[in-house]
Amino acid sequence: MALNLIMLGPPGAGKGTQAERFARSRGIPKISTGDILREAVHAGTEIGERAKTIMDRGELVSDDVMIGIVRERLQRPDALSGFILDGFPRTVAQATALDDMLDGGDPLIVVDIVVPEALLVRRLSSRLICEDCGANAGMSGENPADRMMTAGTGIAAEPMRCRRCAGRLVQRSDDSELVVRERLKVYRTSTKPLVDFYKTRPTFRSINGAQSPDRVAEDLAFAIEAAGGHGCGGRP
Ligand code: AMP
Repeated sequence: MALNLIMLGPPGAGKGTQAERFARSRGIPKISTGDILREAVHAGTEIGERAKTIMDRGELVSDDVMIGIVRERLQRPDALSGFILDGFPRTVAQATALDDMLDGGDPLIVVDIVVPEALLVRRLSSRLICEDCGANAGMSGENPADRMMTAGTGIAAEPMRCRRCAGRLVQRSDDSELVVRERLKVYRTSTKPLVDFYKTRPTFRSINGAQSPDRVAEDLAFAIEAAGGHGCGGRP
């Protein structure tokens, strides 16, 4: 049986970090629609160019484009034994389209990561990603600007480097406080209704994301197992 999993939760809930860990441990692909769009922006494709303006405003790319991207990605062979979607669905129209794509297949496990809004703003404005490979450098809660300075001197130190590829760590262009507030507003109006859309399903679980990444990972694994995800996935 394939492990088909989606992660719900506001920006900064830790979906990407947790999806990455879980996908690696189970040998299934993590499919992040945000990463796919950022790669398209980086590569300068037509979709990327159109998406950039929308992403920089903290708004949502159209359902048609997103559904097309995910439909194509889920048809690739590596997704046959399961997948974790991170950042999709974000609207009820996307969720309905996903149900249609999976119709007749293995059940969809839905995990909602709950985090108070004040913590999200703090986490997002201190998040750094790699300029080259897009890896998340971890969300420590400290101010990245402080880490760019030599302590106490106000003099810029060497930029921090990615542990994976040694690229420069930078703030995501949509992680400025103004855009973060807009993204949270969009989350409340367009994405939070998905909790109602899914919550009556027996495969829906909710976990507390206001804990250390290790604790969240434990709760996530437990929730997936309880939702029927034991023994699923590409690896034993
Ligand atoms: P994320 O990395 O998931 O925070 O996504 C970054 C940005 O990409 C979002 O703020 C949206 O502008 C866009 N995006 C990612 N996934 C979706 C989606 N499923 N639907 C619409 N827009 C999306």
